[in-house]
Amino acid sequence: MLRQPNKRWTPSHWASWKPFGIGEQYPNNYWEVLRAVWVNRDQFPYAWDILNHGVCDGCALGTTGMQDWTVEGIHVCNVRLRLLRMNTMPAFDAQVLADVSQLNQKRSAELREMGRLPYPMIRQRGEKGFRRISWDQALGVISDRLRTTTPDKLGVYLTSRGTVNETYYAAQKAVRAMGTNNIDNAARICHSPSTAGLKAALGVAATTCSYQDWIGTDLLVFIGSNVANNQPVTVKYLH
Ligand code: SF4
Repeated sequence: MLRQPNKRWTPSHWASWKPFGIGEQYPNNYWEVLRAVWVNRDQFPYAWDILNHGVCDGCALGTTGMQDWTVEGIHVCNVRLRLLRMNTMPAFDAQVLADVSQLNQKRSAELREMGRLPYPMIRQRGEKGFRRISWDQALGVISDRLRTTTPDKLGVYLTSRGTVNETYYAAQKAVRAMGTNNIDNAARICHSPSTAGLKAALGVAATTCSYQDWIGTDLLVFIGSNVANNQPVTVKYLH
């Protein structure tokens, strides 16, 4: 059950009197908050609504609004603040995709900042770029391809960012219903090296404890990790 946040100020629980530890391990949270406000200024009420009532599409830890099910207080990290723009950015002018060679020089951040795709588009072999098609046409193309292939030649690959866990759950069910288990997402590429390393060193490929095991424990040892910088919510749980 979700615990009610403690509204009282309890300075004895603070890691430091300095706001967000300015000058200490992780000084830039105010900057990230201001940056998120600035970047989402054209859709600010919508962005605020997402933060307050939406789920987080940043990682598997999970939130409901800005609360979680583990500890009291606000739960929002910089990853979520940075991803917010993915949900609030307007559609871009799809004409720029008519000839994709003009995008060759753009960095990946510039490509992301162009905006959202406004409608389904297709590029066929030999064409310079993408052209608009209807949703019916897009679904028709996909279903035709699915019908003419066999499950062993079918693979589905998902992004690991900007979508929620329920999407992955529904997708893997749908893909298995099509007769294949060839489904993967980009997060596994990130974690494959650590999985292989853990398996070789410890004999298990993934964690064997949960966050709840941490809470109330007497000693936690971190090796090779700057948790305050890289996993700020973890630090909150530790604290
Ligand atoms: S740790 Fe950050 S990215 Fe993960 S659920 Fe919480 S707010 Fe979202």
